[in-house]
Amino acid sequence: MKKLKFLKSLKFRIFILMMILGLLPGAALQMGLLKIYENKAVSNRRIDILSQAKILGTQIVTYDYLNNTSLDVINAQLELLSNIYDGRVLLINSGFQIVKDTYNLDTGKAIISEEVVKSFKGEEISKYDSDNRYIEMTIPLTDSNTEEILGVLLVSVSTDSIVANYEYLKDNTMVIGIACVLFVAALSLFFSRRLVRPLGKITKSIDEVQTGSGEDALSVSDYTETEAMSHAFNDMIKRMQVIDQSRQEFVSNVSHELKTPLTSMKVLADSLLGQEEVPLELYKEFMSDIAEEIERENKIINDLLSLVKMDKSAGTLNIDMVNINELLELILKRLKPIARKQNIELVLESFRPVTAEIDEVKLTLALTNLVENAIKYNKEEGWVHVSLNADHKYFFVRVEDSGIGIDEESLEHIYERFYRADKSHSREIGGTGLGLAITRNAILMHRGAIKAHSKLGEGTVFTVRIPLNYIA
Ligand code: ADP
Repeated sequence: MKKLKFLKSLKFRIFILMMILGLLPGAALQMGLLKIYENKAVSNRRIDILSQAKILGTQIVTYDYLNNTSLDVINAQLELLSNIYDGRVLLINSGFQIVKDTYNLDTGKAIISEEVVKSFKGEEISKYDSDNRYIEMTIPLTDSNTEEILGVLLVSVSTDSIVANYEYLKDNTMVIGIACVLFVAALSLFFSRRLVRPLGKITKSIDEVQTGSGEDALSVSDYTETEAMSHAFNDMIKRMQVIDQSRQEFVSNVSHELKTPLTSMKVLADSLLGQEEVPLELYKEFMSDIAEEIERENKIINDLLSLVKMDKSAGTLNIDMVNINELLELILKRLKPIARKQNIELVLESFRPVTAEIDEVKLTLALTNLVENAIKYNKEEGWVHVSLNADHKYFFVRVEDSGIGIDEESLEHIYERFYRADKSHSREIGGTGLGLAITRNAILMHRGAIKAHSKLGEGTVFTVRIPLNYIA
């Protein structure tokens, strides 16, 4: 298997391709030219013989040679014809009898071949037998006065000389062909190596980037393609670095957040243990503080778990057709007690009935966070307005409050994990800094969007847009 691996390499394929492209036209040309030569040589030979035989034929008729084969003039010419073309000439009279054979083998014998019969009907026949290497022609001898066919001249000549030339040419072109093969192979080898070299460079550079032994960015600009690959690779590396950094930050934030309640508990417990005869009230007070810290720790862990769940792919969504009006009513009903505690007016305004394909649990969590924030970061006697509207594609939830607002700089960061715009206030009211990260993830999983507008000291508006039909 390993031995055949080179078959898959680009270098090998370029080599083969170049060999084929380089040699195929040459081979086709060679074969074509040889064939053309053969055809042309045979046709020239035919024309020559035909013209000679016709002249001879006229003389044969004129001198009545058919009836008087001892005529020297014609005999000499017949000999000449068969000598020049290395062939045999037969003269056949109307009784299908051979009256003259330049080989003197068949004189006096009868001959009835298809060609001869056809020629007696006036046809001039010529046949090339390439296997046995001869051309055979039968020419009718016509009396020019009576148009009567008196006899047939059968000329059969060898094409050995043509074949010899053909072979000579073939051998020579073969030598040239072999030289071409070697040349094209060398050229193909050179170019196939050269063309794939940048790819090897890329692999080497990636290895170097990975081991940190070379530059920390890829730059192979030999081709536009390798340049694009380098850019894409560098972008990916940068992204991975950002992800790695944010992961580290997240881990350190988590540790810090989880440690804070533990530290408080330890301080509380230590101070109780360090005192002797602690009054019961102090015990109770410290224990209730410890319980509060445990509660806080619990909340952070729960939020982290929700976040981890949301981080998974959208495939984990549990999509159902849900009445959004009812969903919001329920959320507000649950939050009413907290709002009442701070004398905050909580109002829901539904512009139309809306049902949509959503994951009820996840979206409830997201919207609850928004409304809860609007209550938490509000002022005494403030208000929170929640409204629901929809068009043909999306539904919109707007959560507006008359609260403390978020300054412009913090507005960019509020969706980050553990980010708190108003640190002291958030911690005081038990915020974990994870709420909006959870909300945003849940909305993005639904292919939705969230936007925030705020004015410090005046209030904040969050607008959420979710598609009515879930797009997988
Ligand atoms: P937390 O658990 O601290 O509330 P969130 O992620 O829900 O965390 O919110 C991040 C920060 O954004 C909060 O700490 C708060 O400072 C700010 N914030 C969120 N919602 C509001 C709002 N409606 N009004 C003012 N500030 C807000």
